[in-house]
Amino acid sequence: MAKKYRVKCPKCGNVQNILESGPCAKCGETLSINQPGMIGLYRMGNMMGAATGFGIYLNEQPYGAIGNRESLYMPLPYGEYKMHIVCGMNRKCNDPVIKITPDDPFVCLKVHMNVGFIQNKFVIERADPSTMPET
Ligand SMILES: [Zn+2]
Repeated sequence: MAKKYRVKCPKCGNVQNILESGPCAKCGETLSINQPGMIGLYRMGNMMGAATGFGIYLNEQPYGAIGNRESLYMPLPYGEYKMHIVCGMNRKCNDPVIKITPDDPFVCLKVHMNVGFIQNKFVIERADPSTMPET
């Protein structure tokens, strides 16, 4: 199955899914997945909030949402990215900083929610690319 790519329009900032390339749904700018690096994100299935999307933030910028048991791939330039996940009132997250470098250009992550007594917390962990389910 095809990978689902999540890109942010460099012109208007609209966040959307594309297959490989295509026009921005908002401003028509040509978008492509041609970036040297990539972050893959898989949301592990859970009962809590299964029907709602988890909001994704990269370096404090909203990057759309991810559904239950969904895999997304974000083509990105080399650099450091702090990832933060939110869902409704749940805003606690381990906030990992992901470094995309020429030596380590493809970083796969899995996110799950740790259900806590007072507050739930999102935990984002690095995963082997071969364990990433396709959706
Ligand atoms: Zn645009």
